[in-house]
Amino acid sequence: MSLADKLAQERRARLAAERLLEQKQAELSVANRKLGRHALALTRRIGETQAEVANVRVENERVKSDLTVAHAKIEVAERRLWHSIQTIQDGFAFFDADTRLIAANPAYLSVFEGLDEVGPGISYMRILDILTEEGIVDTGETPADDWRATMRDRWLSANPAPTVIRLWNGQYVKLIDQRGPGGDVVSLALNITATVRYEAELRAARARAEAANRAKSAFLANMSHEIRTPMNGIVGTAELLAETALDEEQRLYVNTIRNSGEALLVIINDVLDYSKIEAEKLVLHRDVFDLERCIHEVAMLLQPAVRAKGLTMLVDYDLFLPTCFIGDPGRVRQVLTNLVGNAVKFTAQGHVLIRVTGVPDAGTRRCSVHVAIEDTGIGIAPGKIDHIFGEFNQVEDARNRQFEGTGLGLAISRRLIRLMGGTVWADSEEGRGSCFGFRVTLPIAEGPQPVPPVLEGRLRHVMVVDDLAVNCAILDKQLRRLGARVTACRSGAEALGRADGSVDLVLCDHHLPDMDGPELAQALRQRGLQVPFVLLSSSPGALHADPARHLIQGVLQKPIPRAELFARLASLGAAVLDRPGAEGAQMPDAVGAQAGEGLRAMRVLAAEDNRTNRMVLGKMVKDLDIELRFAGNGQEAVEAYAEFRPDLIFMDISMPKMDGKQATGEIRRLEAGTGRHVPIVALTAHAVAGDADGILAAGLDHYLTKPLHKALIHEMIAAHRPDGVRRLRHESPNPLVPDPEPR
Ligand code: ADP
Repeated sequence: MSLADKLAQERRARLAAERLLEQKQAELSVANRKLGRHALALTRRIGETQAEVANVRVENERVKSDLTVAHAKIEVAERRLWHSIQTIQDGFAFFDADTRLIAANPAYLSVFEGLDEVGPGISYMRILDILTEEGIVDTGETPADDWRATMRDRWLSANPAPTVIRLWNGQYVKLIDQRGPGGDVVSLALNITATVRYEAELRAARARAEAANRAKSAFLANMSHEIRTPMNGIVGTAELLAETALDEEQRLYVNTIRNSGEALLVIINDVLDYSKIEAEKLVLHRDVFDLERCIHEVAMLLQPAVRAKGLTMLVDYDLFLPTCFIGDPGRVRQVLTNLVGNAVKFTAQGHVLIRVTGVPDAGTRRCSVHVAIEDTGIGIAPGKIDHIFGEFNQVEDARNRQFEGTGLGLAISRRLIRLMGGTVWADSEEGRGSCFGFRVTLPIAEGPQPVPPVLEGRLRHVMVVDDLAVNCAILDKQLRRLGARVTACRSGAEALGRADGSVDLVLCDHHLPDMDGPELAQALRQRGLQVPFVLLSSSPGALHADPARHLIQGVLQKPIPRAELFARLASLGAAVLDRPGAEGAQMPDAVGAQAGEGLRAMRVLAAEDNRTNRMVLGKMVKDLDIELRFAGNGQEAVEAYAEFRPDLIFMDISMPKMDGKQATGEIRRLEAGTGRHVPIVALTAHAVAGDADGILAAGLDHYLTKPLHKALIHEMIAAHRPDGVRRLRHESPNPLVPDPEPR
């Protein structure tokens, strides 16, 4: 290559290099500019960050100072808390999940004084050991090992129950331990010595008060008993005196003696019962009893007052409810007497209705029995209802003040029903009437219960005539449930208008507003209606003098017991089946169609040690045409039983030598295997009736409480008169017609 070429080549190379340099310089300058911009941005960011850091620093300073303040506060709070814990009288400690003591206040540690081992780090189980080993805790009868085991189990449970321990110095400490979520336990040991002592003092005071109360009750019970015995004599003798020839003034005095005596007996009996409940001497008995009979006995007992006031007493016992239950008949009768007695006492006109319903449970053989006593009396203001169930409480107003009473009856009734596991309630509207009731669940007694007759096809159509709507409604309901068609009439005229050949039976109230029952029977007969006619009467004795009584096929005493209604309907139903037609009908026996002459007199034995009571009883039955023999004690009664062969025995319970229960036991032993069972009626003082421990279990069949009432004695004798002996002088030939009215 030539030099020129080389030079040219070099020049080109130089030029190229210069261009490249220029290009690179240009790129460098761009890069420099970029770098400058970047550096600027960076500088700006650094500035901003520095500002932010400065802010954060300020913030940090503030947080730091806040934290310091908070720390200081926490420290103060902690110090105060710990100071408080240190100063409180009760022990405070906390343990970790491994049962190690973290900290405890001096009160907690004080019981371990001198035992340096007890401090942070010691286990709870070791504390228990120390408590027993050092004799700090008084475990009483419990061996130390057992006590520790119990305390250990308690501590390890998820929620230790509070417990009280007694220390060697007689102090009581209640331990309350609370386990936290992490397993730590906060332990409180409260010194409850003062409370325990106070409680013990209260208990002692209460025991003393109760003992005093029992002594008072026992004193009252004894006093009541002492007063009652002569009182029975006074009332019985006054009753006899009232039957002798007296002028008007003398009769007034005698009646006053009798009424005051009876009122006093009621008060004494109430006080006695209340004292017994208070003294916790009252025990309920379990006997088989007939609830419906109880109700009718109570109704009978109150019948004189019901009649005297012109009231009507009705019983609506659910047709398909059992009647025989297991319970304490004496106490059930007492509650009924009180509630029904009140209903009669506080009712001037209208009716008293005893309604019994219930829900038998075939599975358990128990029945929830619901008894309600409804009256149309003065009623009670709504605010007073709770008050009257309190002891000695009565409604205090002008209307009430005219009635006597102790204000104990409802309190006693409520306690008795509660003892039976039941409840008592009351509902009332002032001026319109009240409804008192109780509900008890009673076991249903084994054995047969009354079975309602089937009327279908027999007594198809029954006419009920009664001006009292509630009685019509009860009979209507009962007869319909038995399958009969019922025409209810409220007057004689209405009955005459509606009676036709389809009527199979007339059930008619004795007294109707427009005519009386026998007159209606006569009027129906005059119209050619030969339909059986049954009278419903509160005082059937009055029928004896009625010329139309031969037209009456039966009398049912109001309130009508179901069994009597059933029996009457069944017998009339059978007679109606035989009835060829209205003409020349074969009517069932009319009242007064039978006689019973030429037979021996009924033999009655009365075991009674008290002469006055013997005299009273003798006088009460003197007109009955019975053979009465007395025995002065149980032993004589047993001898007389063998020799006299009585049809009925009245047996006093408390007698010298051999009491009534023992004598009955002897008689039942003599009867064993002979097939004989002489009915024995206990004559008991009220007190004995209540705790008639096995009066019925001892083999007695019934009991009557003193003072003796002529009507009840007559009723007992009439009810047990066997076939083949002379009818009682006052007894109606029809067994459904009770005695004439007692006075
Ligand atoms: P007592 O009848 O002896 O006063 P009770 O405890 O039996 O005592 O009754 C308390 C009170 O309750 C009665 O005095 C009376 O004021 C009120 N009382 C109870 N039963 C009735 C009732 N059927 N009708 C109206 N008031 C009644």
